[in-house]
Amino acid sequence: MDSRFDFLILGGGIAGITAAETIRSRDAAASVAVVGAEPWRPYSRVALADVVTGDKSGPELELRPPGHWPARGIELVTGRRAVAVDADAHEVAFDDGSRLGYGKLLIATGARPRRLDVPGADLLLSADGQGAVAGAAEASSPAVHYLREMDDALRLKDALVGGEPVLVYGSGFVALEMAVAAHERGANVTVAMRGPDFFHREVSTAGREAIALELVTHGLEVKPGVMVVSLKTEDGYASAEFSDGSELAVRQVLVGLGLEANVDFLEESGLLVGGQLKADEEMRVAPDIYAAGDVAVFPDVLSGRAHARATWQDALLQGRAAALNMLGGHERLTSVTGHAVACFDLPIAFLGDSACPDAMNVERDYSDGSSVRLFFKDNRLVGATCVGKFVERTAATKLMTDRRPIPADRLAELADPAMPLASLLG
Ligand SMILES: Cc1cc2nc3c(=O)[nH]c(=O)nc-3n(C[C@H](O)[C@H](O)[C@H](O)COP(=O)(O)OP(=O)(O)OC[C@H]3O[C@@H](n4cnc5c(N)ncnc54)[C@H](O)[C@@H]3O)c2cc1C
Repeated sequence: MDSRFDFLILGGGIAGITAAETIRSRDAAASVAVVGAEPWRPYSRVALADVVTGDKSGPELELRPPGHWPARGIELVTGRRAVAVDADAHEVAFDDGSRLGYGKLLIATGARPRRLDVPGADLLLSADGQGAVAGAAEASSPAVHYLREMDDALRLKDALVGGEPVLVYGSGFVALEMAVAAHERGANVTVAMRGPDFFHREVSTAGREAIALELVTHGLEVKPGVMVVSLKTEDGYASAEFSDGSELAVRQVLVGLGLEANVDFLEESGLLVGGQLKADEEMRVAPDIYAAGDVAVFPDVLSGRAHARATWQDALLQGRAAALNMLGGHERLTSVTGHAVACFDLPIAFLGDSACPDAMNVERDYSDGSSVRLFFKDNRLVGATCVGKFVERTAATKLMTDRRPIPADRLAELADPAMPLASLLG
C-alpha cells in the first residue's frame, strides 16, 4: 500500500468535494484524500454548456481556487482512476498501479452518458474536417459527441461550426442543453427522439407543446418518434439513417440518451447488488463504505422507490450526509430537491420525484401560459414539474415536505388552476 487515509473519497465531483469539505469542517486532524479520474480540478458540471457556447472558459468553471485544497489539508489527486476496491483489506487500487488504504471510503464516481449503440457510432471526422470515415487512421475527431465532462465540452465547442447541420439525439435535459448550446454556437440543429417530445413522462401536455414551439420558433427542426439506426459517410458528412427510413446529412451527432453509473471498477468488490451501488437511508453501502451522488441508488424519501436522483443539489446533500455519517452521525435526507433547465427563454423546473413511474398525475394549465404536472402516490404529492413561471412552487414544496395525504375528492379538483395548491395546506 502506498499511503493510507482516514477518509478516502473516489470522485472529485460535487458529491465528493462536499463530503471532503464537510469532514474537514468537523475533524481538523483526520487525513482526507479526494481522487478523481478527470485531469481537471473540481468544476461546475452544470455549467458545461457555457463552455460549449464559448461564454465561459474551462478554468472559469473551477469550483474552488487551486490553493483551497492544500490550505485545508485535503489531498486532491486528479487524473487517477480507481480500478478495484478490496473491502476486506480496506484498500483501493488505481490505474497507475498505486494502492491507497482507507479507514472510511466514499464512492462518488458519478455517471457517464449511455453510448449510442448503432453501426457507425465510432465515425471519425478526417483531419481536414472535410469528411467522415469509419475508423480511419488519419481521422482526428469523433462525429458523435456526448456532454458530461470538461473534455467533452471543449471538444464539442471546437467541433461545432456555424451554419453546419448538427443532429441532437435524445429527449432529456442534457439533449435539450446540447440543442440550445449548438444553436447558440450557430449550428443548424435538428433534434431527433424516440418518443413524441421532450420530457414526455415528466412534463404536462401544454408544457411539452410550449417546449416544442420554443424550439421551432428558434429555427430548430424536431423529428419525433424515430430512432437513429446507423451512421455512415456520405459526401463528406456523417449521414444518419432513421428507423422510418429517412436520412439526414450532418456534421456532428450530439447524443443525450441518459446515464450509466460509473460502477464498473466495483464488479469484483462484492458491493454491487444487481449491478447497482445501493445505499441505505444513511448513504451506507457496507461497513466503512458509503456512496453519494449520481453513482448511488438510494431510497427516495418522497416516493419510497430506490433510484439515482442525478441532480446537483442531491449530489451535494448526499455528499454532506454521507460525510456526517462517516464521522459517526445518523443523518438522513429529508429535503425536497429540484433542478431546472431552460429551453431558450422558457424555464422548466423539476421538483421532488417527478419521474415516479407508478404515480398518478394531475395537470394544471394557468392563464399566463405556464403549466404544471403534479405527481401523487398514495394521495401524497411526491413530485411536480412546471414549464413557465412556477408560481405555486412554495406551496408544492410544502405539500411534499409535510407528506400530508390529500383527500381523493380534493385531488380531482386540482385540475382547475383556480383552486390554489396552498388551500390543501390546511
Ligand atoms: C451538461 C450537464 C448539465 C447539467 N445540468 C444540471 C442542472 O442544471 N441542474 C442539476 O441539478 N443537475 C444538472 N446536471 C447533473 C449534475 O451535474 C450531476 O447530477 C452532478 O454533477 C453529479 O455529481 P456527482 O459528484 O455525483 O458526480 P460527477 O459530477 O459525475 O463526478 C464524479 C467524478 O468521479 C470521477 N470518476 C468516475 N469514475 C472514477 C473512478 N473509477 N475513479 C476515480 N474517479 C472517477 C468522474 O470522472 C467525475 O469527475 C447536469 C449534468 C450535465 C452533464
